Amino acid sequence: MENIQNLLSHHQIKPSYTRMVIFRYLRDNHTHPTVDEIYQALAEELPTLSKTTVYNTLKLFIDHHLVREINLKEQKRYDVVTTPHAHFKCDRCDELYDVEIAPPSLDEKSSELFVVRDVQLLYHGVCRKCQKTT
Ligand SMILES: [Zn+2]
Ligand SMILES: [Zn+2]
Repeated sequence: MENIQNLLSHHQIKPSYTRMVIFRYLRDNHTHPTVDEIYQALAEELPTLSKTTVYNTLKLFIDHHLVREINLKEQKRYDVVTTPHAHFKCDRCDELYDVEIAPPSLDEKSSELFVVRDVQLLYHGVCRKCQKTT
């Protein structure tokens, strides 16, 4: 927890206990959880937690580039910012996997025009687990 405290302080975020627990959960669970999943996982440890708090805390982390939001058509999921990577979404089980591919950077002409804040590269199809069950 001390590491998380330092990390949050370093990013000018007041390291409240709730914020640290939410960040720890994201760091330890690379499952790209939704707000609901985070709330359910932590409700017992943080009895005063609300979904609004989870949502606001995530927004704060996103604003400080600690967490990225993955916008899928039907839901938003959250991911601790680590190395650049892409995602693979299974159409059958909805699992979201990390794919170790760094998204391409902009070519010279485009990078003069645009400042990139985030890039989301999403593949979808059928995961290995679901290929076996057909
Ligand atoms: Zn699957
Ligand atoms: Zn990811």
